[in-house]
Amino acid sequence: MITSSTGPRPADFGDVRATNLAVVLRFVRDNAPCSRADIAASTGLNKATVSSLVADLIDRRLVRETGLTENRVGRPATMLVLDGSPYASIGLEVNVDYLTAVAVDLSGERLLSWRRAFPGATATPAQAVAAVAALTRRVVNRMTKDQRQVLGVAVAVPGLIGTDGTVRVAPNLGWHEVDLAGDLAKALRDPGFPIQVENDANLAVLAEHRFGPLGGTPNLVYLTGEVGVGAGVILDGRLRRGGQGFSGEIGHIQIDPQGPRCRCGRTGCLEAVAGIGVLVSTTDPAEVESEIDEVVRRAKAGDAATLDQLATVGRDLGRGIAIAANLLDPDAVILGGYYVPLAPWLLPAAADQARALSIAADFGGCEIVASTLGYGAAALGGAARVLDSVDSGRLPSP
Ligand SMILES: [Zn+2]
Repeated sequence: MITSSTGPRPADFGDVRATNLAVVLRFVRDNAPCSRADIAASTGLNKATVSSLVADLIDRRLVRETGLTENRVGRPATMLVLDGSPYASIGLEVNVDYLTAVAVDLSGERLLSWRRAFPGATATPAQAVAAVAALTRRVVNRMTKDQRQVLGVAVAVPGLIGTDGTVRVAPNLGWHEVDLAGDLAKALRDPGFPIQVENDANLAVLAEHRFGPLGGTPNLVYLTGEVGVGAGVILDGRLRRGGQGFSGEIGHIQIDPQGPRCRCGRTGCLEAVAGIGVLVSTTDPAEVESEIDEVVRRAKAGDAATLDQLATVGRDLGRGIAIAANLLDPDAVILGGYYVPLAPWLLPAAADQARALSIAADFGGCEIVASTLGYGAAALGGAARVLDSVDSGRLPSP
């Protein structure tokens, strides 16, 4: 049966205004310093409309005027730049062994970056909510003391997140059906800024897209290199979440039917053959970092067994990357988390294998690279997510 879908409804005036404000704000973000005439010429909005929109953005202290420029034909023009000094965007990450908080201003300048130990694998959801709320409160207090208004908070969680922000399941945290956004809002006594919850890989790829060396690249896949392996996917410049918000569970694609049992109960999943758990003996997440340091030390010393094991893991990782590349045709695949310190040994084997299994000639021009954003990538992506909301028209009130 063929069903016809209704077309877009006509937007009301408020929607049009918000959309146009967002268009101008994004133009200034990408082209500052720029003049009102530059905005009109590039966006197709008429000059009177641009003047009114810019006045509104100045009222909201999102944009400010800077000096005149004379190095162009005609009258000198007043130039515009992003302001953003009155604002802060906050990202947090809950993980099995730590909490991370990052705050940035409107232009993405880092205001603070905190990481603290947290027993995520053993804490109850209520304890986790209390800890995340306490950390959020400290960051918000710091921002308020610096005269900044908080635009929003986005929290990264390693799990399946519903489109309503509920954590459906986060296996490594032991969470089921946790309304983290709602619980946090309650714990913070309805703080007056939006709170979002998102999958950690999704936020990490947003961080790469906005802040990373491949920033602006329209098609990116980010792989988290933890005990679990998840993928964040940006295609055609937009995060792809799927129908339920569950896309990107590449860690449970079967790589080897004869492989070891995965924590999900199946056998030979990507994370069971190429997750960080393969390389460490500990099940205590607090110990993983030091064990990975030890693997790096042995690899640098040329230990044959270690190099062999890293090549095997790299090859299996390459099989997973080839599946992602054949399916999604990304411009780049970015390896994050503990894959970063291991990249000198994993990358060559992974790239060889991925190229061998790629249907596109020359691997479709896709690069495989290690992330440079560090362990705070998912939290930074939370801050990016909040800035994305502002850029798409959810502006703070004047
Ligand atoms: Zn699995």
